[in-house]
Amino acid sequence: MGELYIDGEWTQAAAGGRRDVVNPYDASLVTTVDEADATDVDRAVRAARRAFAEEDWADLPTRRRADLLLRVHDLLLRDREDIARTETLDTGKTLAEARIDVEDVANAFRYYAELAGKDGGRVVDVAPDVLSRVVYQPVGVCALIAPWNYPLLQASWKVAPALAAGNTFVLKPSETTPLTTIMMIRLIEEAGAPPGVANLVLGSGATVGAALTRHPDVDLVSFTGGLNTGRAIMAAAAAEGPRNIALELGGKNPNIVFADADFDAAVDYALDAAFLHSGQVCSAGSRLLVEDSLHDRFVEAYAERARAIRLGNGMEDGIESGPLSSAEHREKVEGYIALGKKEGARLVTGGTRPDDPALSRGFFLLPTIFADCDRSMRIVQEEVFGPVVTVERFRTEDEAVELANDTRYGLAGGVWTSEASRAQRVAQRLRHGTVWINDFHPYVPQAEWGGFGRSGVGRELGPTGLREYQEAKHIYQNLAPAPSGWFKG
Ligand code: NAP
Repeated sequence: MGELYIDGEWTQAAAGGRRDVVNPYDASLVTTVDEADATDVDRAVRAARRAFAEEDWADLPTRRRADLLLRVHDLLLRDREDIARTETLDTGKTLAEARIDVEDVANAFRYYAELAGKDGGRVVDVAPDVLSRVVYQPVGVCALIAPWNYPLLQASWKVAPALAAGNTFVLKPSETTPLTTIMMIRLIEEAGAPPGVANLVLGSGATVGAALTRHPDVDLVSFTGGLNTGRAIMAAAAAEGPRNIALELGGKNPNIVFADADFDAAVDYALDAAFLHSGQVCSAGSRLLVEDSLHDRFVEAYAERARAIRLGNGMEDGIESGPLSSAEHREKVEGYIALGKKEGARLVTGGTRPDDPALSRGFFLLPTIFADCDRSMRIVQEEVFGPVVTVERFRTEDEAVELANDTRYGLAGGVWTSEASRAQRVAQRLRHGTVWINDFHPYVPQAEWGGFGRSGVGRELGPTGLREYQEAKHIYQNLAPAPSGWFKG
């Protein structure tokens, strides 16, 4: 029995490929899994197509699909500790965070179970003898591609609405973090999904991801990951399509602190914003903007708190942050730290690997703060995706907004102030998909998530997150048919 799931069977990669899964805390081998190639992708897409055409999945009463989602929700909660521990082993994140992830994954399934069937479409008022309806139907076969930072959570934001809408899918997690996705697919099987509705392929983006996005029988590609991969996927979707596409990409997210903000809360949340999961969060508040009059005091307190963050094995109590996801990724982040110094940013704290010998085998980096940054620097403009935050000063509200919007991205941002009207004004003017006021990071399944600008195309979560997986159809019925007499002959 292998780890690919195709047409209701657990199966091995056709060419016999295997891949090591490594614990980023100490570089130890966790397990090995199947490594698919384009042949397996083709089998999986055909299975999804067959199921979409032949199984009664898409035509089931919506309530029955919603029931399956609720069963998955319950099974996720039954296995939550096991899943959370596996996520920690695979990603290095703390167990506390992994537990929250699993709750959020379950919540996504419950939300879409509850949303499904609530919207029977729209009756359009045309004329007394016309019945005109707009209905929403599944798109078809969906290719779902997820990243490694929130492996199960990001996958669930796709899988739950795709199933609720009546689609079939082929899911590809990141090659580095496949384990909890395998567990989720087992639960979907246990919940009773018909064969071919849910399919899983494992393997590299270059091989398996590319084959999936190019496959002619895929109707929709939904992707979460980096900007460059998103561009490649969009190009492939155009070359082979056009076809539906949803992209959740990166961010360089401003966190604006006005001088009248609650100081302790703002410092505290600025840590969460930038250093949660070692900054490997698409919405990380990695670009701190502090009002000039507060700047020096703020940076001093911030650096002191950053130095106190306890790095270590995410499995252990009291550990506050884990390692980066891989050796290669840490090298990329170290490259950005070197760049920041070269560009003239002032290193306030961090910038190196920790010297604790207990952490020497893992892919750790110290929480890093650069001050005296300005918007022309690449370290300020590019997504580092590590525990690195840049600090800029501003003097006026207008300047804060201008700086915060001076990014090619537009995923999320935060505003800290005790003046309610200013908070609302600034939130209104920010060109970012989510704006937090006196908070950072919360998201809820009921509210849309996604980016302006190059942070993506489309939205996940909320009612829009279901619409991504639906096609609108207009059904127009003439209730009193009679010759129109347009042609006279
Ligand atoms: P990535 O390198 O773009 O990879 C994302 C997924 O795409 C992985 O499964 C990857 O496979 C696959 N992939 C790579 N090349 C591909 C190709 N040519 N065709 C098809 N698939 C391909 O991103 P990542 O490093 O995993 O994730 C970090 C990025 O995701 C960051 O930029 C972050 O901001 C973004 N992100 C965005 C959100 C959001 O909600 N907007 C949420 C989380 C993360 P392999 O890994 O197996 O190679």
